[in-house]
Amino acid sequence: MSDAVSQLPNPAPGRRAAEDFVTNYLSDLFCEEYVVSSPAFRGGQSAATNALESFEVAGYGANRNEVYPAKLRGASKLSPYIRHGLLTLSHVWTSVERQAQSHHRDVRKFRDELLWQEYARHWYARLGHRTATATRNRLAVRGAAEFLWDESMGCIETITEELEEDGWLVNQTRMWFASHWVVRAGLKWQDGEDYFFSHLLDGSRAANRLGWQWTTGVGSTRSYGFSRWQVERRAPGLCSSCDYVADCPIDSWPTDPDLQAIETNPLLVSDPNLVRTRGPRAVEIFGTPSAVWLTAESLGHYDPALVANPDLPAVFVFDRPLLKQLQLSSKRLVFLVETLAELAARRPLEIVLGPPAVALEGRPLATTFAPVPGWHRLAPKLDLVEIHPWPWLHDPHDGRIGSFSTWRKQLDW
Ligand SMILES: Cc1cc2nc3c(=O)[nH]c(=O)nc-3n(C[C@H](O)[C@H](O)[C@H](O)COP(=O)(O)OP(=O)(O)OC[C@H]3O[C@@H](n4cnc5c(N)ncnc54)[C@H](O)[C@@H]3O)c2cc1C
Repeated sequence: MSDAVSQLPNPAPGRRAAEDFVTNYLSDLFCEEYVVSSPAFRGGQSAATNALESFEVAGYGANRNEVYPAKLRGASKLSPYIRHGLLTLSHVWTSVERQAQSHHRDVRKFRDELLWQEYARHWYARLGHRTATATRNRLAVRGAAEFLWDESMGCIETITEELEEDGWLVNQTRMWFASHWVVRAGLKWQDGEDYFFSHLLDGSRAANRLGWQWTTGVGSTRSYGFSRWQVERRAPGLCSSCDYVADCPIDSWPTDPDLQAIETNPLLVSDPNLVRTRGPRAVEIFGTPSAVWLTAESLGHYDPALVANPDLPAVFVFDRPLLKQLQLSSKRLVFLVETLAELAARRPLEIVLGPPAVALEGRPLATTFAPVPGWHRLAPKLDLVEIHPWPWLHDPHDGRIGSFSTWRKQLDW
């Protein structure tokens, strides 16, 4: 049964058809009651392109951290499209060039955030599964947790609702939640990271693990503290509707957790296998492909392997064993299916359910390298005859990557 492969029909374009597809064919692969995300996050290349074209960078620096009311938020909301390669970081970087003169500071701040995404990808490409454990500090085991987890607090309840309903959060509330989970409540950061990963439409092990490690201090020099102060500053009005308004349990700052430095992982200092981390720099050709294999890392119409092979069918595999284990939220699956449906309207596409190595057996494939452990796990089992480079914003280097600033200093600009 675990090796069974089924060919699925192509979904018709649109949200409704994507929802039906997920209910009909992927119903045992998601974690909760069936939920879809708000129309603010439609899957597909045209939604990605529209989101980028309508993004105004003016005011980004001042408003990126605003939380509520939602209309004041300056964040771009591009992350689900960047996550799945519908928008490359280079494309997004260039798209704000026309405003570089008039909104110099906003453009610089926005590009800094794009660099954080690139840093997360380099960090994950080099360290892979090792990012599932702390990279810089151990959190000392505390006696009694300072605080028991309480979802009825207005701030935490609102974050949870938004995460579970929309599958997206601004950076601030991600930090609030992660800090509250670990620093105040003493819960395990990996469990919080898994919870985010299930629900976030942009959920990636790279940025999510980096975010959790950075906020909680296990991957940075100190932890970030969350208290009522941030809520009143970034979400005015939220506290007044909270049951705890007169007796707020996070009125004061949490105690800093005891961070104990762990032995430096040599991979944070240098990369003994840069070629593996970076992938090919030019197209590698070993034969003639009969299809283009698409991964969830690169689902855009401009995926390099797709563009190079306009006449070949594309094939996407829903990795049943992996999805069964991950138990993602249905929102994430609907987003992917809506994306695939739009592609299927442009060119032949096959959607398969099963273990990728079995589903793709015996087919010579063109594909785009993806800098994630899953690609390295599968690649040796497949007949990859044409491998396209990953569209890095900056080529990974083999120097220090223990922090964003040391990593950045060594980039080849
Ligand atoms: C605990 C925690 C978990 C996170 N999990 C994820 C995740 O799973 N996937 C993810 O893409 N980002 C994650 N982030 C980073 C960041 O919060 C989101 O990228 C950002 O909030 C997405 O919203 P946006 O597109 O409006 O961002 P904007 O502020 O508009 O930034 C533009 C783009 O820059 C990149 N970016 C911005 N901030 C960061 C950052 N701190 N780290 C990495 N990339 C960044 C994203 O690609 C984003 O789309 C996490 C942060 C924290 C603190």
